[in-house]
Amino acid sequence: MTVVAEPIYDSDMACIFCRIVSGEIPAEVVLREPDVVAFLDIQPLADGHVVVIPRAHVALLEELEPAAAEALFRAVVRLARPVREALGAAGTTIGVNNGEATGQTIPHVHVHIVPRREGDGAGSVHTIFPRGARRPLGEVGEAIRRAAGGLT
Ligand code: 5GP
Ligand code: ZN
Repeated sequence: MTVVAEPIYDSDMACIFCRIVSGEIPAEVVLREPDVVAFLDIQPLADGHVVVIPRAHVALLEELEPAAAEALFRAVVRLARPVREALGAAGTTIGVNNGEATGQTIPHVHVHIVPRREGDGAGSVHTIFPRGARRPLGEVGEAIRRAAGGLT
């Protein structure tokens, strides 16, 4: 087990992931960068299931500072191939439970990287939804563009 023993950026020590960042809780760390830590999930969905987190404690993806968001996504991209190759997997499912209502159990942003194999019995991202969309695409697109301040 590798312990992350660098200074923490955040003082929310009730958060399990902040405690992993600080080294208070051990984890099997696979990547340590100034703004990002990645480690094996303690209850892996498959061998090689990694979670990638920003050192800074924020609950939601949209609360990340741009630099932290860039570092997080760069780390995810950096790890995708090694995780797949180390486990001899055919691909990876990469996902974020973003908010308590989505099933996020730890309110510290984390990106799951889960190695996948042919016939592993898991589905695609589409399989987690019951196909509940009802509104016309144009209406929904307009609402999102307006909320985002006029994206084109
Ligand atoms: P969520 O459901 O919030 O998207 O994912 C949280 C993940 O964190 C879960 O897959 C869970 O197994 C993992 N996890 C929870 N506590 C710990 C821990 O103490 N150590 C590690 N390595 N993973 C944890
Ligand atoms: Zn935290």
